[in-house]
Amino acid sequence: MVKKFQRKIEDFVCGHCGVKTKGNGYTNHCSNCLWSKHVDNYPGDRLNPCGGLMEPVNLELEKGTFHITHKCQTCGAKARCKSAPEDSVQALAELSEALAKKTFF
Ligand SMILES: [Zn+2]
Ligand SMILES: [Zn+2]
Repeated sequence: MVKKFQRKIEDFVCGHCGVKTKGNGYTNHCSNCLWSKHVDNYPGDRLNPCGGLMEPVNLELEKGTFHITHKCQTCGAKARCKSAPEDSVQALAELSEALAKKTFF
């Protein structure tokens, strides 16, 4: 049993909705509900020991790509990331609808 692959591709079970998301090395958020986990200081480094659940609190359309802002429920840190092609269109639509009704910040 030799580990051949060293790529940083991790499958993870979403701490919010429980759906298993297949990691592709770029995405660290759940494609079903868009929640993330606080594991990075900078995207992809996995150096933050917090591990808190990160709620999607903002959605911006930039150059045709959605950018999601996540806020950590444990330490309050915010991080912005690109949405992934496999993200649920319904979840993105629900988030933008919720944001239109609610005022953050
Ligand atoms: Zn989820
Ligand atoms: Zn945190």
